[in-house]
Amino acid sequence: MKYGRTYNFSAGPAMMPEPVLEEIRDEMLNYRGSGMCVMEMSHRSKVFQQIIDEAEQDLRDLMNIPDNYKVLFIQGGATLQFSMIPMNLMKNGKAVYIETGAWSKKAIAEAKKVGEVIVAASSKDKNYTYIPDCSDLDIPEDTDYVYICENETIHGVTWQKLPNTKGHILVSDQSSMFLSQPCNVSDYGMIYAGVQKNVGPAGMVVVIIREDLIRDDLTDLPIYMQYKTHADAGSMYNTPNCWAIYCCGKVFKYLKSIGGLEEMHRRNIDKAKVFYDFLDSSKMFKGTVEKEFRSLMNIPFVTESKELDAEVVAATKAAGYDNLKGHKSVGGLRASIYNAMPKDGVEALVEFLKKYEAEHK
Ligand SMILES: *Cc1c(COP(=O)(O)O)cnc(C)c1O
Repeated sequence: MKYGRTYNFSAGPAMMPEPVLEEIRDEMLNYRGSGMCVMEMSHRSKVFQQIIDEAEQDLRDLMNIPDNYKVLFIQGGATLQFSMIPMNLMKNGKAVYIETGAWSKKAIAEAKKVGEVIVAASSKDKNYTYIPDCSDLDIPEDTDYVYICENETIHGVTWQKLPNTKGHILVSDQSSMFLSQPCNVSDYGMIYAGVQKNVGPAGMVVVIIREDLIRDDLTDLPIYMQYKTHADAGSMYNTPNCWAIYCCGKVFKYLKSIGGLEEMHRRNIDKAKVFYDFLDSSKMFKGTVEKEFRSLMNIPFVTESKELDAEVVAATKAAGYDNLKGHKSVGGLRASIYNAMPKDGVEALVEFLKKYEAEHK
């Protein structure tokens, strides 16, 4: 790695593509002759308007977002969406949620403060190590939407096939898989993603929402909590997270330049295979998720004991592989290998773990 950088396996904030960081460095003190850094720039300036417009257009190109969907850049991270979604989308006060791990659980808890939540399927019985069969759920007719977390960052499970919503709109938290593979936007009513997992710096969420779901009858709702506010103001009702928009815009361009989401997906499959093949052949390390539902992004794994887990985490850190400790709610280890993690990083870590295993038999 250049610049003495480390292979950072953090679940988020996480690695960004090196060419993007280099470009940001080069533009840091004087953005393209503007005489200032993007951090110092008025969000009402022409220069910034061009940055946000290009960011939106590049994202639209990457994901083939249909014209009847709005793209919003909102602050408050993905967490604020746990509240904004039920506040804006519950017309009948009822929604179906699928419980597949820590992040869908948090979304359920917040939605319950707003209306009736029906947990139509859950994988809690096996500690969230699989995605339940959602091909024929019991969904009441007056349900406002069906909610999923498409990749559970902490438990490392991912949806291979979207649920059958029986004609209801689908809302998906894509935070930890956003732009990791092609996505058919029109399968969803709304997609959202906190950007610090797979795109850019923390503090912003991208919301892709079908226009007809944006309501103008919610005048009692605090203005900042209404999607309409952000849609009408082009994501600039107040000062947006200019820095994050700028950095994410660069990542969108970078993804286009390498061949778009098909190519990104190919690389992600290739990269994850290196790690999973290792786990499947190891006697010391074991993946915790059922094979069919393994995430390409977040890979939780364990040894036979907590003590050994901790020893391995310490050894990896000393060797220059950072942030491999599992989430406190699950324990063990977790390697997050988002878009920007090079295959070299995964191969190097696997070599290290193989060697560790051989020396500690
Ligand atoms: C990290 C994460 C969140 C929370 O994101 P914040 O931006 O910190 O609010 C929500 N959902 C998923 C799937 C995540 O990985």
